[in-house]
Amino acid sequence: MQHPTFSESYAQARERFLRGAADAGAAVESHPLALRGPEREVLAVDVARLGPADATRWVVVSSGLHGIEGYLGSALQLSLLRGLPGGALPEDTGLLLLHALNPYGFAWTRRFDQNNVDLNRNFLLPGQAFTGAPEGYELVSDLLNPERAPRRVSAFRLRAALKIAQHGFSTLKAAVAGGQYVHPRGLFFGGHRPAPTQTLLAAELPRLLAAAQRVVHLDLHTGLGARADYALLLDCDPDDPRVAQLTARFGSKVEGWDAAGTAYVVRGGLGPWCEALLPQTDYTFFTAEFGTVPPLQVIEALHLENRAHHWGAPHAASTQRAKALLRKAFAPRDPRWRADSLHRARGIVEQAFASLSADPSPALATA
Ligand SMILES: [Zn+2]
Repeated sequence: MQHPTFSESYAQARERFLRGAADAGAAVESHPLALRGPEREVLAVDVARLGPADATRWVVVSSGLHGIEGYLGSALQLSLLRGLPGGALPEDTGLLLLHALNPYGFAWTRRFDQNNVDLNRNFLLPGQAFTGAPEGYELVSDLLNPERAPRRVSAFRLRAALKIAQHGFSTLKAAVAGGQYVHPRGLFFGGHRPAPTQTLLAAELPRLLAAAQRVVHLDLHTGLGARADYALLLDCDPDDPRVAQLTARFGSKVEGWDAAGTAYVVRGGLGPWCEALLPQTDYTFFTAEFGTVPPLQVIEALHLENRAHHWGAPHAASTQRAKALLRKAFAPRDPRWRADSLHRARGIVEQAFASLSADPSPALATA
């Protein structure tokens, strides 16, 4: 049976999003890639806007920056098109939905884009260079990126356990979280230049949000945290005053990046880039992360799929197995996970609207 909002493929997600947007009377724009998906479908970033174009307050919901993670975000967007929290938009408020920021990865069951780029490591700020890797990356690169197709039985977890015993979990975590600009076929490669998605957003966001004075942007992700629970990640230290200020509005799920005690800096995230793109706007960007399966299982799935993608045959059983594991790690089909995650995600959107309707705090306005 079809789920009402969770789709089974990118093609279905896109078709439902466009139909839902038309039914809701949204203004729609599509930005197709010169590439097709596995069903020969068009791959596009689709944008739907509800509310007046000149609204000064905006909630932005984006999905699929990490391709395969797009299922939950797409389901949320479709559910918003079918019914807003509270029934209608508050006065002078718009809702902007950015569907499938990495349509290639969404369609082909990958986290990365058509150039193997991890888009959430690609949004470097002016002056930052597309070079280097976290210190720990070279220690774990042979574990993460062997240059051969996956075998029937994966030794990944055993080898990972050895690495953890040797170097500590924080090293593995740093390698994973930091992003790297050295190995174009490796995991978490941030690219060597702005990716097409960055170029697109640089051209479109300032126009779409031309009248915006205050924005709350929710960028939906999956794969990190306890199952169906979520965190609202801010790209700042845990003790940054913004964490406490936003906790007052969004609850205890608000967190700074937990980089304490490790020697890496996360670079190239979408949030700081959006905030820098619209410097006159009070722009609050949350990476909304929903948990699925334990971290080692997530990394194993990424590792196997990446090997299969670069070194395996597209129709080989090992490739199909790796894709299925990735799907399970980032887009569980379990009805309970879907229902709980969607319910919570709608709750965050409701908080975002309420937060825009409240008076801006002076501290936030100058943050
Ligand atoms: Zn993600």
